[in-house]
Amino acid sequence: MNSLDKLTGYFEHFPGIGARQARRFAFHILTMQKEESLELASLISSIKDNVIECASCRRFFSKSGGTADVCDICMDINRDRGKLLVVERDTDIRSIERSGVYDGLYFVLGGTVPLLESRENNKLRGGGLKRVVEARLAEDLSEVILGFSINPDGENTGRFVEAVLKEIPGSDKLKISHLGRGLSTGSELEYADPETLKNALQNRY
Ligand SMILES: [Zn+2]
Repeated sequence: MNSLDKLTGYFEHFPGIGARQARRFAFHILTMQKEESLELASLISSIKDNVIECASCRRFFSKSGGTADVCDICMDINRDRGKLLVVERDTDIRSIERSGVYDGLYFVLGGTVPLLESRENNKLRGGGLKRVVEARLAEDLSEVILGFSINPDGENTGRFVEAVLKEIPGSDKLKISHLGRGLSTGSELEYADPETLKNALQNRY
């Protein structure tokens, strides 16, 4: 396989990218200035050293020289440790933070449990969520909010999380809530506007 095909193959595995777009990306790199392409290559080769996964909420964050393995949100003492909002992916946190209405902590599940797929997605962090909730329950966690998309896969993911939580001793004390009205059917959190997210969080049930 030549380099162009190999590069195209990598792009084809990017989320939402088809074969034709992957080929366009590869050709685009060929038209870039040499320095530009070198910078891109060095960013790619160093990103895993500079951006790490938070040991607590599992979102990616930039290490700013320190040795902390926990992100700035998890470290913020002003945030409400009684609330844990479980989301599909990192970008959902970005949208919710923009709405400015949520002051609790997060957990990134890492994906959804598709309704039509029998085997569990092995990238999902059900076990990680269980450990975080177990530890927090001993402290001051009182509510887990299911922040998934309003579609069959999102609802199925909600059921998966509820089943995980049920296995935890003492979880009957936990309030499990869902995002409220405002988010239209089929809408993904990532693309919801701040006002809609604000309403959905304030009207959770
Ligand atoms: Zn974190």
